[in-house]
Amino acid sequence: MLRYEDLIPAMERALADFSTGKVLQPVRSVLPVAEHRGFFGVMPAVYGDTMGAKLVTLYPGNAGTTLPTHQGIIVLLRATTGEPLAMMDGRLITEMRTAAVTAVAVKHLSKRDAKVLAILGSGVQARAHFAALQCVRQFEEVRVWSRNAANAKVLAGEIGARVMSAEDAVRDADVVVTVTHASEPILHGAWVKPGALVNAVGAVGANRREVDSEVMQGAVIVDSREAAKVEAGEIMMAGATVYAELGEIVAGTKAKPSAERVVFKSLGLAAEDLAAGRLVVESIAS
Ligand code: NDP
Repeated sequence: MLRYEDLIPAMERALADFSTGKVLQPVRSVLPVAEHRGFFGVMPAVYGDTMGAKLVTLYPGNAGTTLPTHQGIIVLLRATTGEPLAMMDGRLITEMRTAAVTAVAVKHLSKRDAKVLAILGSGVQARAHFAALQCVRQFEEVRVWSRNAANAKVLAGEIGARVMSAEDAVRDADVVVTVTHASEPILHGAWVKPGALVNAVGAVGANRREVDSEVMQGAVIVDSREAAKVEAGEIMMAGATVYAELGEIVAGTKAKPSAERVVFKSLGLAAEDLAAGRLVVESIAS
């Protein structure tokens, strides 16, 4: 039911609505399930005529098993009456809405003639980002790095990319995406060319980061300032300041940054899940 052609504009609207005060949404609650090395997140929001929540789990240890590392369910209710509308799987929506949000960042923040895409990571988000970013830029070259070279090779074979070292993949790249479970930097600012857009998607949590402090010296764009204060380890550890929310750029309430280097730090919003869930319900209804 979900197609990036519909999802990317829906994420654009959701981000703009979020940043112009049209969404009621607390920062998510995350319960560490220490005994089983997992995390349980609760993400509620009220957005227009819909409200609801995503219950999401992150179990990094599921990697390499038959279970995905991210799983969840999304519940939608009618905001006008409180009536339950739908309950749906949240795994695929998490996969696609995250990549669609990065596509919005790439559309608004990267150079129009961006030609080289570097993807660091080779899991679910790496594949989804390859698919979504094609919708907004025409890349001539895609480069892949992953901690496990065999996984990088499989992904590269699937998408027609080149496997490289992280440094070689990033040098000269116009758009860089980090989509790993790393909690220490796998991307260094010294590698990033002026004018490139870095999308730091993977590390969510105060003590985690995929990109080093030098990367964060660029203009920093976030999905939510409020969430960034508690969940964006990259910003906190680098002592970086946030230039704008992506939704402010989309809505035109904040000018595009003029800095040579721009970083979009993605954390993921309940409003994105509700907007994606609503697309599914509308699609079924029609
Ligand atoms: P997957 O489990 O499918 O893939 C994880 C990837 O991380 C693999 O490519 C793996 O590489 C790599 N990896 C694991 N541990 C390390 C490490 N210590 N150092 C370097 N690479 C590592 O996960 P997803 O693709 O679904 O998610 C990727 C990241 O994106 C996660 O951190 C997740 O939490 C985040 N995310 C963010 C969202 C947002 O809204 N911002 C939403 C959804 C996910 P290899 O196999 O080569 O070891």
